[in-house]
Amino acid sequence: MKLAVIGFGNAGGKITDRLLEYESSTGRELCRFPAVINTANIDLEKIENIPPEYRILIGQTDERSKGHGAGADPDLGAEIAEQDRLEIERVLDQVPLHEVDAFLVVAGLGGGTGSGGGPVLASTLAERYGEPVYGLGILPSEDEGGRASLNAARSIPTYTEATDALILFDNNAWREGRDSVDVGYERTNREIAKRVVTLLAPGARDGSTVAENAMDASDINRTLSVGGVGTIAYAETDLDESTTRQQGLLGRFRPGDGTDGADAATKVHGLVRRAVRSRLTCPATVESAERALVVVSGPPREFSQKGLERARRWLETEIGSVEVLAGDDPREGSDTVSATILLSNVTDVPRVDRLQDQAVDAKENIEAQAADRDTAIEELVTDTDNELDPV
Ligand code: GDP
Repeated sequence: MKLAVIGFGNAGGKITDRLLEYESSTGRELCRFPAVINTANIDLEKIENIPPEYRILIGQTDERSKGHGAGADPDLGAEIAEQDRLEIERVLDQVPLHEVDAFLVVAGLGGGTGSGGGPVLASTLAERYGEPVYGLGILPSEDEGGRASLNAARSIPTYTEATDALILFDNNAWREGRDSVDVGYERTNREIAKRVVTLLAPGARDGSTVAENAMDASDINRTLSVGGVGTIAYAETDLDESTTRQQGLLGRFRPGDGTDGADAATKVHGLVRRAVRSRLTCPATVESAERALVVVSGPPREFSQKGLERARRWLETEIGSVEVLAGDDPREGSDTVSATILLSNVTDVPRVDRLQDQAVDAKENIEAQAADRDTAIEELVTDTDNELDPV
C-alpha cells in the first residue's frame, strides 16, 4: 500500500519521522508523500526525514500561539487548524493522488495541536478526496495526569468520526519505569514504526520476489472499512545466523516451502498465536475484533502456506469472524520472521473506558478548582465586610 502520511503536532511529527526511517532502513516503500504540521516551530525543526517544504507551521498569526504551540488546548489546536485551512490545503495539493491508496493522519491525543488539529485535517481530507483516511492516535499514559486524559477522551470520538478507522497506540501500556520520558518515547516510536510499516507495506520493493499469497491495498482497506478502533499485534523470531545460511542453501532448491514443510507450518502458526497473545499497540479483547489481517514477513524459505492458512483459521475461530485475511511479505535479506496482525473494530478496549472515567474526574476537578479560584480572588480583592465601594 502507498500512503500519504501527515503527522499533526509533536508526537505526530516524530512518529511520522520514524515511519520514514524504518521503511528506508528495511527497503520498504510505504510513505509516498510525507508531511508534518505543527503550531510549534521548535518541534518542526527537530524533524529529520521530511523535507522543509513539507513541514508546515500553522497559527503564526494567531495571538495565542504565534508559532509557540497550542498550550495543550485541543480547542485551540482545532481552531488554528480551521483558520489555517488554506495553508494546509496548499500542501495537500501536492499529494500525488494517483499514486496513493490512503491517507494516514498521526497525532498524540493528550496534547493540543494533534488532538484538536488531527481530526480537523482528517475531515478536510475526507471531504476533498475519495481515498480512505485512517488515523493513528497515541493515548497518553496515566502519569501524564487528568488534563492529558481529558484531551484524549474528548479527541477520540471526534477522531473516530473523522476517519475511516483509528488505530490506537497506548503509551500507558508501553511505558517502562526505567526509561526517562524522551528515551521511552524514542523506544516506543520505533516499536510503532515497526508495526505500522510492516503491516501496511507488504510487497517486495523491486518485484524480484513475488509473494505467494500477496496482500494488497484492497485487503488492508477491506479490513479497516468496518471503521471504529483498530489495534496491532506483533511478534518476531530472530533467525540464527547459521540456520539462515544453511536454510539459504536448501531454500534455493525448495523455494517458498521451507526446509521442512511441517516444521515451517508449525512455526508460522506459532508465531501468529504468539503475536495475538502479546502486547497489542493498544490492549483490547481480541475476541471483540470484527475483522483481522495477518502479514507474515521474512525470507520466503521460512514461509509455509499451510501454516498461514492454519493460523488464519485459528484466528477466525478466536475472534468469531469469517473475515480474516492472511498473506506473506517476502523479504529476501531479512534476518527475522515476523507476524503482524491488524485487529479492526475492537469494541472492548478497557484503556479507553478508563480514560473516559479519568477525564470525567479531571473535568470536575478543573471546574471545582476554577470555581474555588474565582471565590478566592473575589475574597482577596473585596474588603471583609463589603464596606468599600469599588471605583
Ligand atoms: P501536541 O504537539 O500539542 O499535539 O502535543 P504532543 O504531541 O507534544 O503531546 C501529545 C501527547 O502525545 C502526549 O500527551 C503524550 O502522551 C504523547 N507523546 C508526545 N511525544 C511522544 C512521542 O515521541 N512518542 C509517543 N509515543 N508519544 C508521545
